[in-house]
Amino acid sequence: MLFDTHVHLSSFEPGEREKQIATAKGLGTSTFVEVAGSADNVPKAVELAESRDDFYFGVACHPNRVEMYSGEKDLALFRKTLKEHPKKMVCIGECGLDYGEADDQRAEKQRALFRDMIRLARELALPLNMHSERLCTRDLLTILKEEKASEVGGMMHNFGGNMDIAKEYWDMGFYTSVSVLIHHPMADRLRGVFRDVSLDQMVMDSDAPGAKLIRIPADSSDPYPYEMDKVSEPRMLRYIADKLAEVKGISLEEVAAATAQNAKRMYRLPADG
Ligand SMILES: [Zn+2]
Repeated sequence: MLFDTHVHLSSFEPGEREKQIATAKGLGTSTFVEVAGSADNVPKAVELAESRDDFYFGVACHPNRVEMYSGEKDLALFRKTLKEHPKKMVCIGECGLDYGEADDQRAEKQRALFRDMIRLARELALPLNMHSERLCTRDLLTILKEEKASEVGGMMHNFGGNMDIAKEYWDMGFYTSVSVLIHHPMADRLRGVFRDVSLDQMVMDSDAPGAKLIRIPADSSDPYPYEMDKVSEPRMLRYIADKLAEVKGISLEEVAAATAQNAKRMYRLPADG
């Protein structure tokens, strides 16, 4: 069975969400981790995870929501949430860096926020579920080292870097997560990274509905006709897994078993759960 390590399904309307979950489950996904990106999203993530056996959740403040971060008040909420939901809260995420259009001041605020999230993860002994983009990779890796994030480990969702960067994550005990990027027509180098590395270092995430660059399967001869600017859906995890199996020249079952086992180890869940 497939394990989706990073989704935002509480942003779908309940009816639409149930439909999407059912489709994903029909294609083999058994477990989802809903990641809240700000304090106001925490109740929705808790509700989703507590109402279903197949959902867990994480809490954090996303770098793009740095203006919403209140410091101590948010941290107190995150701590209290773990106390109240110890079996369901499995990570600190989504957190990280995303400079995008950020000016120096905003970038500095993001770095301070990210340090707070790492310190919280260490205090609570939870893995990090992280977001980054190309411009901040170096800063992110430096902060992970300075803040001793290897004590808790975790994952970089939607990984898109080269082999050297992947190695830096693995050396610190982080998994690199395979996403819809594996289908991008220009991503030959990335497919090369995924081909050459051990399955031990990989998990998978659909980021639904976050990721924007995907192929929508249709009933044509091409199972993956390419479409830009569509939001991701949880069913895409199966197409990510299919592609990873093809790239590595192994079976879908092997990909599913290894990445699900890694996800459970990362989230400290029972191996057979
Ligand atoms: Zn996300």
